[in-house]
Amino acid sequence: MAVTYRSAAGDVPAVRGISLEVAEGEALGLAGESGSGKSTLAMTLLRLLPKSARVTGEILLDGEDVLRMNWGRLRAVRWASASVVFQGAQHALNPVRRVGEQIAEPLLVHGIAAPAEARTRVAGLLEQVGLPAWRARSYPHELSGGQRQRVMIAMALACSPRLIIADEPTTALDVMIQAQVLTLIRSLIADRGIGLIMISHDLSVLAATCDRLAVMYAGRVVETGPAREVFTGARHPYGRALAEAFPTVGDPSSRMAPRGLGGDPPDPMRLPGGCSFHPRCPVALPSCAWREVELWPADGAAVDPADHVTRSTETRHTAACVHVLPEPEEESA
Ligand code: ADP
Ligand code: MG
Repeated sequence: MAVTYRSAAGDVPAVRGISLEVAEGEALGLAGESGSGKSTLAMTLLRLLPKSARVTGEILLDGEDVLRMNWGRLRAVRWASASVVFQGAQHALNPVRRVGEQIAEPLLVHGIAAPAEARTRVAGLLEQVGLPAWRARSYPHELSGGQRQRVMIAMALACSPRLIIADEPTTALDVMIQAQVLTLIRSLIADRGIGLIMISHDLSVLAATCDRLAVMYAGRVVETGPAREVFTGARHPYGRALAEAFPTVGDPSSRMAPRGLGGDPPDPMRLPGGCSFHPRCPVALPSCAWREVELWPADGAAVDPADHVTRSTETRHTAACVHVLPEPEEESA
């Protein structure tokens, strides 16, 4: 799928053709610097984008295309089939309502539980995210940042969705709480066979909690594969830079700018030609200025051209870099 924002200054191609798949119980990590299109992708999955966004392609949830659902169907699908955990729960929670009521709301709205049963369910959900049941009576300001994020997770789990999308769910939290919350999300989805898309600019965090990783740059996926393989053996120079960018504790800026990688991510309205990473790439060839390479198997195994066509359904390691391509064949006479 692809997403373009229309603005007074012109079109902003925020997501430029991406194909990803998530299976039941699987955690897919989506990494990339700020501005690479991660949140646009996340919001598109449940059609939460502003009207200025034009979306093309398909988003299949259990085979049904979210982009072609009518509003009634879409409302039913939100929360009940797929739900989102956003960054900074402080803003997503209503400050003047008790958190228990807020967790119960999707259950009541979707007719999944009557009020008395919803109260029991809320107590159970709070327990699962590591909060005592009496916390249902608390207001958001009475909770710490980590506790509010746990409340958001309880809300996302409330209707037993098939897919959870977590967009930087822990970025606002300190490092210790971050690890706890991520481990919690991971264990809850694996136990219940829920699919998870976890978004972060921090590849090391994703590598520790996800099965597979996809690295985004300028609205495209430039590398994907099994989490450990991508993290320890990235084949795209951008994937490598992200993998080496271990954050320095206490220095927020080190989490945003991958160490050793100069320059800024490109403005989607002024993308460089060819491979959009080439101006920052330490191993760029002259041809990278005009040539954009598709994702290509990068695990060193022999490449069958037929494999390449079906790559979106496979779990092998792929990278969109000229250095991963097989040697060009000599033209035969
Ligand atoms: P990320 O989550 O990876 O930081 P985003 O998806 O938020 O990236 O943004 C991707 C690009 O789309 C950025 O260049 C951003 O400025 C642009 N963008 C996001 N929202 C809008 C919008 N409503 N209108 C125009 N451009 C937008
Ligand atoms: Mg974002």
